[in-house]
Amino acid sequence: MIEVLSAVSEAYPLIKTGGLADVGGALPAAVAQYGIAMRTLVPGYPAVLGKLHEAKVVAELPDLFGGKGQVLAGRGGGLDLLVVDAPHLFDRPGNPYVGPDGQDWPDNWRRFAAFSWVAAQIGHGLVENYRPQVLHAHDWQAGLVPAYAKFGPSSSLKTVFTVHNLAFQGSFGSEIFSQLRLPPEAFTMHGVEYHGAVGFLKAGLECAHYVTTVSPSYAAEIRTSAFGMGLDGLLNNRAGTVFGILNGIDMEAWDPSGDPALPKTYTAATINNRRINKTALAKRFGLENAEGPLFSVVSRLTWQKGMDLLVDTVDELVALGGKLVVLGSGEQGIENGLRSAAHRHPGRVGFITGYDENLSHLVQGGADVMLVPSRFEPCGLTQLYALRYGCMPVVSRVGGLADTIIDANEAALQAGVATGLQFGADDAHALVDAYRRTITLYRDDKTWKKMQRRGMKSDVSWGNSAARYAHLYASLTGQITDDNARD
Ligand code: ADP
Repeated sequence: MIEVLSAVSEAYPLIKTGGLADVGGALPAAVAQYGIAMRTLVPGYPAVLGKLHEAKVVAELPDLFGGKGQVLAGRGGGLDLLVVDAPHLFDRPGNPYVGPDGQDWPDNWRRFAAFSWVAAQIGHGLVENYRPQVLHAHDWQAGLVPAYAKFGPSSSLKTVFTVHNLAFQGSFGSEIFSQLRLPPEAFTMHGVEYHGAVGFLKAGLECAHYVTTVSPSYAAEIRTSAFGMGLDGLLNNRAGTVFGILNGIDMEAWDPSGDPALPKTYTAATINNRRINKTALAKRFGLENAEGPLFSVVSRLTWQKGMDLLVDTVDELVALGGKLVVLGSGEQGIENGLRSAAHRHPGRVGFITGYDENLSHLVQGGADVMLVPSRFEPCGLTQLYALRYGCMPVVSRVGGLADTIIDANEAALQAGVATGLQFGADDAHALVDAYRRTITLYRDDKTWKKMQRRGMKSDVSWGNSAARYAHLYASLTGQITDDNARD
């Protein structure tokens, strides 16, 4: 049994702002079957403490970066949890990173440095009778974990750092360095220093024994200047220890045959039941009826996700005979653009802003098409849910989207392997062309249904990927010597 502590700033169903939470929540069960005992360390936001039960104090932290804290052990959301309970840092409701003014909390560096510091202390024995062999840290919020481990007391502690999105780097002015509890030698290119500042993500990428990201294509892309966001040099230097491991999905939470959020559940054999969900979905979004190809989006409304391209091409989609529902929130300009599109095309375009987990299930279970036009996409989960729900994924050809969807080109259709459509990223013409191809295919009911059923049967579980994580942990802890976990 290998003991792994996963340090993650959000985990479904405790707290979620995006795909990171889905992975944080699903990974422990996924790796358990490969002999990995994973506990999850999360910050003690009110939403987390509210769901924590059987809680016990397992460590006192009299001076946790400006206030008192403690580590609680307990269960919540089906997870075996350790929680950093520190009111001065985490007793803030709502979004974990952003205050009521819509801006990042100004002390985010302190909050997540403290969180990362606690993870490393646990690795060094803070909690009695618990000594993880591997710390698995996720994204910039836990980026300092490998740095605290590297510059901490020498030990056999190993670290894995997973980058779920290279765009969020957690960079802060060098003046914070003296408060990080790191030795002076950590402020170099081999530690946390990044262009004269402190880079949390950079620190994780630099200091971890292994770096992983969430798809093989993204692992390759981030080593190029086009996608590397300034970190491609570093990633190239450590190419032999960077792995791309696809995310899987929680097959229980996302199961159309028993999903309580759907008016009508279904399987591949009863796919015609989706019709009832489509009608409910159309009604919910104020569409005139449920006729014709219904496109959908469930997403953060940002440039990364290509949502400006969607705004620019809605009129063409409607002109081609498509309808559209969008669930999401994000950049003001994009929200305004979608609101105005819904105004221009009443009954054909519906927009609901905000975050609604149940509604996201209804969209997957009722819409014909899930559109994901990202400019870059480390893995992407919405297209995986779409496969499982028989909602045709129409995706740009980048990152995890390219790795998980097989485009319905002539060869793939002939071979009977197509599961969706792909188009060139960052290109409005390619997007409109994809609308056209999708609608043509939709009208070929036999081929469309075959593709839906094939998608529903494709393997989007954690199986393979969990085995690869388990292999990485085992090779780090010396339990296996060969390393076929790499790409
Ligand atoms: P990212 O993590 O970059 O936002 P992913 O595709 O990896 O993108 O994961 C997004 C997750 O967030 C999915 O579970 C998706 O269903 C969910 N999601 C995004 N926006 C909303 C929303 N407005 N309401 C409900 N769920 C949403």
